[in-house]
Amino acid sequence: MTPALDLPLSLYIHIPFCLRKCPYCDFHSLAGRPAEEEYYVVRLLAELQHWRYSFHDDPRPLQSLFFGGGTPSLLKAASIATILEGVAQLWSLTSDCEITLEANPESCDQEKMTDWRKAGVNRVSLGVQALRDERLQLLGRPHDRNRALQVIEALVQTGFHRLNVDLIYATPGQSVEAWLGELEEAVRWGVGHLSCYALTLESGTPFHDRVAAGRWTMPNDEEGAHFFEATRAYLAGQGFLPYEISNFARAGHECRHNSNYWAFGDYLGVGSGAHGKWTGEDWGTLRTENPRDLAAYMLGDFVNPASVGAEEAGLECLMMGLRMAQGMDLERYARIRGRKWENSARGAALVQGGLLSVEGGRLRVTPAGVSVLDAILEQLSK
Ligand code: SF4
Repeated sequence: MTPALDLPLSLYIHIPFCLRKCPYCDFHSLAGRPAEEEYYVVRLLAELQHWRYSFHDDPRPLQSLFFGGGTPSLLKAASIATILEGVAQLWSLTSDCEITLEANPESCDQEKMTDWRKAGVNRVSLGVQALRDERLQLLGRPHDRNRALQVIEALVQTGFHRLNVDLIYATPGQSVEAWLGELEEAVRWGVGHLSCYALTLESGTPFHDRVAAGRWTMPNDEEGAHFFEATRAYLAGQGFLPYEISNFARAGHECRHNSNYWAFGDYLGVGSGAHGKWTGEDWGTLRTENPRDLAAYMLGDFVNPASVGAEEAGLECLMMGLRMAQGMDLERYARIRGRKWENSARGAALVQGGLLSVEGGRLRVTPAGVSVLDAILEQLSK
């Protein structure tokens, strides 16, 4: 393994179990309570040891850990504690290491929340998705609005001052005014971070089939843009900065873990379906991708890192970096890509057209470019 570069190192832990499958979801998640929980934890610990051995000459402490899913809050709190103890025996952690756990309201109770805190979890990302019961039913979520608000309050009182709430907008039949009412409520409940995503139709999901069959109508592009702009304007007025295209935070509440992804930092990924990415010799990019099949993950060999070509890695660095308000570090890009971004003719045209800007060694999307980011990224990926 390459000796440490001056890049932060994070760790992602995937927990693939969910109470049931939501009808719009194409994440790697399996419906049903994890009968294999203990075995899964044992496998995770073995995989962690494997990567620690592979990184034995890398002195970097972990700056963030993230339990994602699936629904990590479905696990027993003792399992979360066991995994965290295992990590701490293998890696050093920065003194302010961010440790996030994704949770869903129906699998949170006071005892678990208290135990997560004791185990070292210091940030929770709560899958609320909507604060109107009719929208929660449409999204096929098992909780209701009251339950979501009770859990938000209980998390804050348990000491989770760094709290994200996930919300989905632009669902069939929703108005912008009603959506802003939900946002207002989330803000009022003292949340410091909001992830707001428009509903997307992933092929193979029941939602996709309903729209394809003409049973539902999704908001059109113009209506979608109206939702997007109204969200940004409302949250800016409430002191939430759009530090990433879909993520809004009060100062100091930005997610360190996800920011490391977007900045093309290094991270290990353990668990079924998890991805890892780090920087090797001469700024080469290495990647791992665990099998999404649970049995294959549990019983197979650990995967080997694969080398990613400079062109592909550079493009990914660009795609992710432009999603952030602070933009992409041009020097990091040049090292990864092996040539300067400034030499891109297509990019220069977008700068001249006022959609991108270069300042202080960073490439950013301008305010005019934000609403057409997808088109910009498409242009740059050709
Ligand atoms: S809870 Fe999240 S990960 Fe699980 S099925 Fe629903 S959307 Fe997918």
